Amino acid sequence: MPKTDSSSNSKFIFVTGGVMSGLGKGVTAASVGRLLSNAGFTITAVKIDPYLNVDAGTMNPYQHGEVYVLKDGAEVDLDLGNYERFLGIDMTSDHNITTGKIYQHVIERERTGDYLGKTVQIIPHITDDIKRRIRNVAKGHDICIVEVGGTVGDIESMPFLESLRQLSHEEPENCVLFIHVTLIPHSKNEEPKTKPTQHSVKELRSIGIQPNLIVGRSTIPLDDDVREKIALFCDVPTEAVFSNPDLDDIYHLPMSLEEESLDEYVMEQLNLLDRAVPLPNRDTTWRESVTAPKPNKVNIALVGKYGLEDAYISVYEALKHAGFPDGIEVNTFWVHSETLDDGDLSPLSSIKPDGIVIPGGFGSRGTPGKINAIRYARETGIPYLGLCLGFQLAVVEYARNILNLKDAHSSEIHPETSHPVIDLLPNQHDIDELGGTMRLGELETHIDKNSLAHSLYGDNHCLERHRHRYEVNPDYIDSLEEAGLKFTGKSGPRMEILEIPGHPYFFGTQFHPEFTSRPTHPSPPFLGLVKAALSHSTPNNKNPKT
Ligand code: GLN
Repeated sequence: MPKTDSSSNSKFIFVTGGVMSGLGKGVTAASVGRLLSNAGFTITAVKIDPYLNVDAGTMNPYQHGEVYVLKDGAEVDLDLGNYERFLGIDMTSDHNITTGKIYQHVIERERTGDYLGKTVQIIPHITDDIKRRIRNVAKGHDICIVEVGGTVGDIESMPFLESLRQLSHEEPENCVLFIHVTLIPHSKNEEPKTKPTQHSVKELRSIGIQPNLIVGRSTIPLDDDVREKIALFCDVPTEAVFSNPDLDDIYHLPMSLEEESLDEYVMEQLNLLDRAVPLPNRDTTWRESVTAPKPNKVNIALVGKYGLEDAYISVYEALKHAGFPDGIEVNTFWVHSETLDDGDLSPLSSIKPDGIVIPGGFGSRGTPGKINAIRYARETGIPYLGLCLGFQLAVVEYARNILNLKDAHSSEIHPETSHPVIDLLPNQHDIDELGGTMRLGELETHIDKNSLAHSLYGDNHCLERHRHRYEVNPDYIDSLEEAGLKFTGKSGPRMEILEIPGHPYFFGTQFHPEFTSRPTHPSPPFLGLVKAALSHSTPNNKNPKT
């Protein structure tokens, strides 16, 4: 059947998942994007989340991991963070499509009479809206990678897969490539098993999608026999079967796929080889950043209430990035804030931290422990970085222990406090409903000269992403500053950065610098922390691995 002409000149890579979720499909897709970007192509990405939530803003980090915040303030799935980190791009709300978003839009249009007289249906109305959104994001980019969350066979993802099938049918030849990322488990006697993959590809083919390329997730690389078996049963060439084995570091995945020439295969299929930068001239910044030797190491304590690493994934990653330029291996240990609530700090001190981070958070659980940890960092000179709630609680700790305002608190956590040092600003008090009052996304902070903030950012302003509702109470700023806590970054009446001159490194930000940290461009507050942590660590604390 002849293909209709494409409305855009972009190529599309659709990534589906087989057998089970949590295989690292997003990291695989992002790694493919990294390689194509190294070859000179402009890349963008769309993450499809087939759940009914319109966005991830209200989702529980226990279940879903961190809520990632984009430049435009969109609250999205943490996978978008992987795309931003791997591709070095800024995404917007349009790059995250959820079932909720699509249905909300289509139903709103139905209510306002846009489909007058018609029966509104999944095909074509929902599928058309999905295709329209994907094409809009792709516009102006050489390649658009679209990852479908979940696993093939889920009821929820059906309309999305059908849309991708239609899109592939509508686009010209060599413009669409399907990559299926699947699990290759090993039996008890270490034999790799391809049957689950065969079944998931069968499922995919039953809805009209033939994968062009299969990436097998397994503990060890796939051998030739396994590749041949997958190729035979899934109807792809043997050269189209790639390995995604366990690696020490997810940032090494692009290089591992490159060794198998996955990028060349993809470019060949998409007819892009003649436009690619020749191999010897490809961009190697990524490889150099993430594989540089790390002769030094530091221990960082992350004091938070969620044990799940995914709940603070951007903070873990930003700490790791900050070690790259100076060859520092950053070992981050989670310390449950509630274990410090009663003032016994041994769970923290026993890991001998060279630096302490308190990340963002909501609600009261574990806040006494966080305040105790901040006091410990301030009094013992351990480098400290407080992010959002970690910034606010540093103000609370200072007010309590230096200004002697014993019940000082954030009114979010203790509404009856007589000293709400963190509070809603006067004009926020009238708005009592929670939704819509959050300060979100990229906003500018003005930075004082002669401050630590200025030396870190090397500028008199910075643009960072926010996600908070409460602020430093203007009534307490003068007394806090007179007592030695300096607010060196501001945005109008709002305090954005705090520091304590004289302390080796005591830095807090009302914003979330972790969201803009990239392996090739670490975040300034994290770089500062990790450098200070290295100075704090004992000189003989060298990395035994190097
Ligand atoms: N709960 C605090 C607020 O709403 C801090 C938010 C955060 O840490 N992201 O202001």
